[in-house]
Amino acid sequence: MIDTHCHLDACEPSAEELVRRARDAGVTRIATVGTDGPSIGRALTAAAAYEEVVAIVGRHPHETGGFDSAALEEIELAAADPLARAIGETGLDYYRDHAPRADQRRAFEAQLELADRLGMPAVIHTRAAEEDTFAVLREHAGGVPAVILHCFSAPGRLEECVERGYLCSFAGNVTYPKAADLHAAARDVPAALLLVETDSPYLAPQPRRGRPNEPANVTHTARFVAELRDVSYEELERTVEANAARVFGW
Ligand SMILES: [Zn+2]
Repeated sequence: MIDTHCHLDACEPSAEELVRRARDAGVTRIATVGTDGPSIGRALTAAAAYEEVVAIVGRHPHETGGFDSAALEEIELAAADPLARAIGETGLDYYRDHAPRADQRRAFEAQLELADRLGMPAVIHTRAAEEDTFAVLREHAGGVPAVILHCFSAPGRLEECVERGYLCSFAGNVTYPKAADLHAAARDVPAALLLVETDSPYLAPQPRRGRPNEPANVTHTARFVAELRDVSYEELERTVEANAARVFGW
């Protein structure tokens, strides 16, 4: 199985411990996200240290206050490292509003244009900002080779995602009993657009809920999604591995 999105540097245990536990659980690849300059450095360091790990490099919407050309250059430089496989996570977060919305938007558009120019996938974060996020994607992501909606949370727009070919990456919250809309989306999304992730240390799946999440737990989410889709775990694993290999290019 593959954890297509986590934050190793925000987890309490060491990367070494987390990678070992993931390996024991049958997780063969882990994409860790660098959310600002220092975090990008830590993501690339982890990717260099562990065969399973690759990096996603970008500026999280929370970290976009004052985003400028130097910040974009920092991402572009990091993206030149072959261990970096995608740009992100980028997008809009109107729930927390940690950065001014104009800055979030400028950083989002700039990172989509960078992904387009570099021919790299873009990993998207959206919270309480669906309308604007989808509008920016429509306008700026046309040439981006793959758009990945991380922690998929737009079940009402599944049809639109399918039309545009966006990948839908389901996190631990899909396993929550009350998430009926997400259950339906995970069941109905075409296999070619399906990914799973942990978003560790956040959003632990149901059997681990309330505790810090870690990459090994992606197997719980995958098992739940397999049941929703009425396929075996092995089949779901093949699907996710093929999609991730295509998108991240390994
Ligand atoms: Zn994240």
